[in-house]
Parts: sequence; structure tokens; C-alpha cells
Amino acid sequence: MKYQQEIEKRRTFAIISHPDAGKTTLTEKFLLFGGAIQVAGAVKSNKIKKAATSDFMEIERQRGISVATSVMSFEYEGTLINLLDTPGHKDFAEDTFRTLTAVDSVILVVDSVNGVEEQTRRLMQVCRMRKTPVIVFINKLDRDGKNRFDLLEEIEKELSISLHPMTWPINQGKDFKGVYDLHNKSIRLFTANTKAIDEDTISISDLSSTVLNEKLGERDAATLREDVELIDGVYGELDVNDYLSGDVAPVFFGSAINNFGVKEMLDTFIRISPKPRDRETNKGLVKVDADKFSGFIFKIHANLDPKHRDRIAFLRVCSGRFERNKYFHHVRLDKDVRFSNPYSFLAREKNVVDDAYPGDVVGLFDTGNFKIGDTLTEGDEFFFTGIPSFSPEIFKEVVNKDPMKTKQLEKGLIQLTDEGVAQLFTQFGGNKKIIGCVGELQFEVIQYRLLHEYGASVIFNSVPFYKACWITSEDPKKLEDFIRFKSGNIAIDKDGHLVYLAQSEWFLNTERTNNPDVEFHFTSEIH
Ligand code: GDP
Repeated sequence: MKYQQEIEKRRTFAIISHPDAGKTTLTEKFLLFGGAIQVAGAVKSNKIKKAATSDFMEIERQRGISVATSVMSFEYEGTLINLLDTPGHKDFAEDTFRTLTAVDSVILVVDSVNGVEEQTRRLMQVCRMRKTPVIVFINKLDRDGKNRFDLLEEIEKELSISLHPMTWPINQGKDFKGVYDLHNKSIRLFTANTKAIDEDTISISDLSSTVLNEKLGERDAATLREDVELIDGVYGELDVNDYLSGDVAPVFFGSAINNFGVKEMLDTFIRISPKPRDRETNKGLVKVDADKFSGFIFKIHANLDPKHRDRIAFLRVCSGRFERNKYFHHVRLDKDVRFSNPYSFLAREKNVVDDAYPGDVVGLFDTGNFKIGDTLTEGDEFFFTGIPSFSPEIFKEVVNKDPMKTKQLEKGLIQLTDEGVAQLFTQFGGNKKIIGCVGELQFEVIQYRLLHEYGASVIFNSVPFYKACWITSEDPKKLEDFIRFKSGNIAIDKDGHLVYLAQSEWFLNTERTNNPDVEFHFTSEIH
């Protein structure tokens, strides 16, 4: 229990949302509270601009900028907060999914006007799978949005999670007057660009008080009384354990751009959010307070300068203490490695760090030793599990245009897919290479990078697949039969796992029905 104190004070989380819901704005307000930045507008949105979708170099440049804000560490009220950024662009959804394996909780931003959107759904699916504790921030209350009760119902239904309101809005749009804090029983009156001064807060010990009528007007005071009675009756006090188990999500209402309702959430966040937790490995749980160091790589970012092939690997520390210049064990490669210039992301500057503790993220310079999911330990032979690979949505066959560069092409494909840019499949019993991505964008990036970094020239041929399912069976004979009958649809992933490539949902369902002994998995854990 050597590092108990360090563990207690850390919180590692991500803010997730559909693009434009207000993630960047909320991040910025958090950093302002944490003193990590002084002025609004300092946080660059790492959003991939729409106009750039055909210009992949511009996209890579923008992604490059986002490395600097990949992790933002700051202190607030004695708590050390590591905020991991996630790209909002749908084509980089896999990046986001993997980042979610490195956090202990998330804040989900929902736009009160648009409600639940496509990315919100996909992101929450991952959180549910991992039972990640979620806090919901309903944003843009200064705009005329959906009816708040309808919105809660929509979120509960669409995201399959139970909600628990912590604050309650008084009106919305131009009549937005503030929020009632259900826990502290106080009202915060809305003023644009709040600086979080206490005078804005009125304590209301009794909702029937006439002060309420004075401050809110008869009609809104009456509505608030009714709403609160209803909510109290339905929800009662939040049971923090229900939140920690991922079953119930506390909800806050506010307006990120006006810095309104943000502090309430941040204060609650540091009070209830999980500190770094024990983690699952192939040899059982690793205790977060174990003496020995362990951690895993959840993200790799390429250097944008093609002359420098080095990359940055992001390490999440899971137990013990990470130290600069100390030899650690790279489990997959079975070799010892050390890092002379690991860096942390405190206050958005890259600083060389001497040590790091569970919950921290460290940037490691990598010359090709790492792939996503790799585990580092202090000599132990285990690896972290639960880092998923999702089915790509677009598949293309790689056609080599320059047979003289076959070796370079193979190396390039391996390295780029190690970085997690795409997934690589090899036709079963053949040599055909198929690349699977979540977005068209990646094919352009891969083609460009193969040529400029590896000198390999390729084009892509479309192949008629829509989903990759990892297949297993308790009965090896059944699996063998299935592979033989469907050999045109079978491939091997990079880790040697068998994959069934389905042409359509209809084919997939038919095969599942016809082959009850074969199990079809929609995600593959990297290990
Ligand atoms: P992201 O894509 O989720 O990072 O969203 P941004 O933080 O970039 O916000 C998207 C747009 O919504 C920007 O134009 C923001 O200024 C705006 N925005 C953010 N919060 C609010 C809010 O509380 N009210 C209003 N009216 N606009 C907001």
C-alpha cells in the first residue's frame, strides 16, 4: 500500500459527446477551474473540421495538434485530475473506444436541443460494456431545447441507463433562470459567463418560501415546486454505489459556454467519481495499490515528420510506480525496456517526468516496439485484458502497385495497424490482405503514409463485406467445417484469430442460425 496517498488523489476520466454538443467548451471550463489555463479560448478544438474531409494531410496535421491536448492534467481542490481527450470525428471512433479503456469514468455531454445523437449512442455502448461510471451533462440550456422530462426519458431509453437528476433547470432558452441543486437544496441563478461567485447562490431550506416567488416569479416558482416534488418522489438521494457500478448516471443541467452549472458538476465529480481501480489481467486482478509497477499502451500516435519514424505511445499506469530510466518488462516482446524521456501532460505542456502513479498517463517515445494493448510490468508475466477491437465498417483489399517494395509494404501495414489506424486481415489459406476501417478517411491516410513513410505504392479494391466477426467454437470439428464451407469469407486477424467476414446482415444472421455451435463475437479483445 506504498502509494495509497497518490492513488487516492487521482481521477482519470474522459469527456465524450457527439460532435458539437460542447465537449471542447466544457473541457476548457474545467481547465479554468483547475487553473491550468487563464483565459477562455485557450483550448484548441481537436475537432476534425468538416471542410477538411478530403484533405487527409490537413486532418493529420489537426490530429497532430490534438496530441498536445490528448491528456490534460490539472489540480482542483487537492485532486489531481487527468482528463483524456477523445476525437469526436466518427472516422476516429476506434481511437475514442480505446481511450475509454484507459479511464476510470466519463462525463457524457448531451445537447439539450438535439438530444441523443449517433455518436452518443455508440460511445455509451462502450461504457455499458465496460460498466464505466457515467455522469451526464445536459448542455445548452440557454437555448430552446427539448422538454426536460422528455429528454431524460429519451436518454434513459436510447442509452439503456437509469438517470438520477442532481440539479434541475428552471426554464430554458431565453427564459432560462438557473438550476436548483437537489442535493444542497439551493438555487443558482443564471447569469451569462458566470464566474462562480457565491452571491449567485440562494439557499432554499423550504421550497414554499416566498423568496422563491420573488426571485423566479410566480409561474416559474410554482413549476419548480411541482417538478422537485415529482423528482424527489421518483428518485430520492443518489446511491453512489449505483453510480460506481455503472448502473445509474447522475445528471446535471447547464450551459458550458456560460460556465453555468459546471462547477456543481465538477465538485460532485471529485466527491463521487472513482479513484484508479484494480484492473483485470489474464492472470486475475492486479491491485491498484500493489507495490510493483504495471501499465498498458492504449494509444499510439505517429510522428508527423516522415523523416522521424518515432511515435508516441500513451501508457496508462495501473499499479505501483513508473520511473524514468528504470528497466521494465515488455511482456509481449519478452524484453526489458527503459525510457529516458517519458513525459507527462501537466498544464498542457510536455514535461519530462521522473515518476508516475496509478491513473497517470505517460507519453513514451517509441521506435516501433509497441502496439496497442501492450503491457509493461516490473518483471511479471501477465497482460491487461479488455482492450477491445471493434468490427470495422468498410473493407478493402490492398493491391501492391510496386512488387519491388513488397517488404516495405508488409512492414508499413504491420506498423500502421499496430498504431490502430486500421485492422489488417489476411485471407484464410491465401495471401490477400484486407484492411478494415471505421471511416473512408483512414484509407487515404494509409495510402499516403505507406507511400511517404515506407515507399510502398498501393491502391485499394472494394470488397463486399460489411462486418467482421471473430469466430470460436467449443467444438473444433464444427469450427473446421464452418471454415471449410465458408472459406471465401474467412480471414485471420493480426493476432492469428479467425474472423468471418459477412457480406450483409442477412448473411450474418443466416450463418448464425445455421451454425448454432459457432460463436460470433462482435468485438475481439486485443489479447
Ligand atoms: P464539441 O464538438 O463537442 O467539442 O463542441 P464545442 O465545445 O466545440 O461546441 C460546439 C458549439 O456549441 C460551439 O459553437 C460552442 O460555442 C457552442 N456551445 C457550447 N456550449 C454552449 C452552450 O452552453 N450554449 C450555447 N448556446 N452554445 C454552446
